Amino acid sequence: MDCGFPDILNAFEQALELERELGTRTVDGDRALLAPRSGGTPLPPAGTPRSGGTPLPLAGTLLSPAGASRSGERTVPLGEAASRRFTGTTGVSPVATPALPTAAELAACTRCDLHGLGRTHVVPGQGNADSPDFMFVGEAPGADEDRQGLAFVGAAGQFLTKMIAAMGYTRDQVFIANICKCRPPNNRTPSPPEMAACVPYLKRQIARIRPKCLILLGNTAMRGLFPDTFMRRGQWQMYEGIPAIGTFHPAYILRFDSVRDSAGLRKAKTEVWNTLKLALARLGKTPPAIQRKGQTT
Ligand code: SF4
Repeated sequence: MDCGFPDILNAFEQALELERELGTRTVDGDRALLAPRSGGTPLPPAGTPRSGGTPLPLAGTLLSPAGASRSGERTVPLGEAASRRFTGTTGVSPVATPALPTAAELAACTRCDLHGLGRTHVVPGQGNADSPDFMFVGEAPGADEDRQGLAFVGAAGQFLTKMIAAMGYTRDQVFIANICKCRPPNNRTPSPPEMAACVPYLKRQIARIRPKCLILLGNTAMRGLFPDTFMRRGQWQMYEGIPAIGTFHPAYILRFDSVRDSAGLRKAKTEVWNTLKLALARLGKTPPAIQRKGQTT
């Protein structure tokens, strides 16, 4: 099999990226690779093919903390490295991102307690996985989702369908997923350890799907993707170069309905709709004409 050095580097990067997603922050390696080169000869840019067969000390650069650099050396953060591949003679180009997590992979997952707390089906998420305009991220599957193995198919899902339609899209044109892929018992909020265990799957989905805009539904989704940032509803954050905005979870909206709080319902719906319009505007789009009258349902 013809397996050149660039291919080996690609495979190495992908293996490191997988480890990073699984939470690994350090890896074993040959410290000699990290040592400064004698003579002060600057290293070529990562990915530059070398003559003479001397291994490029890429491991050193990849093992360096993100952003750190040594004299004459080009440091490539893990995330960046994983999104690039070596092309032999002309540097780097976008690559090969991790595969989408499959239902079979998730069904075998035991990373958090939710695997043993009565889940019927795992719920990876579904929709347009080819760089859709929008990816919606919720909290975790409920009873209907757990039964069908699909995200947002219960009452909250029907409301989400209306939100998506109001924006001028169908569910098939966007991607819909959750922070956690297994149902928490009694629809409780996933715990921080459960969210931390599962969010690498979502990050893999985002890396693979590359939505143009992320819409985070509810506090859990906002906290899950931005654990170190206090994210306010309706305010933009960037996730790996993708604009992300948060709003109410559809289930929260439905609660106003169930307690017949029409004023609260109207206020919450208005806020959601304003956020959806911000998301559309971010992509240079406007809602369909009928929705300009403020109808979200
Ligand atoms: S919720 Fe996520 S991390 Fe926990 S068992 Fe299910 S798939 Fe694994």
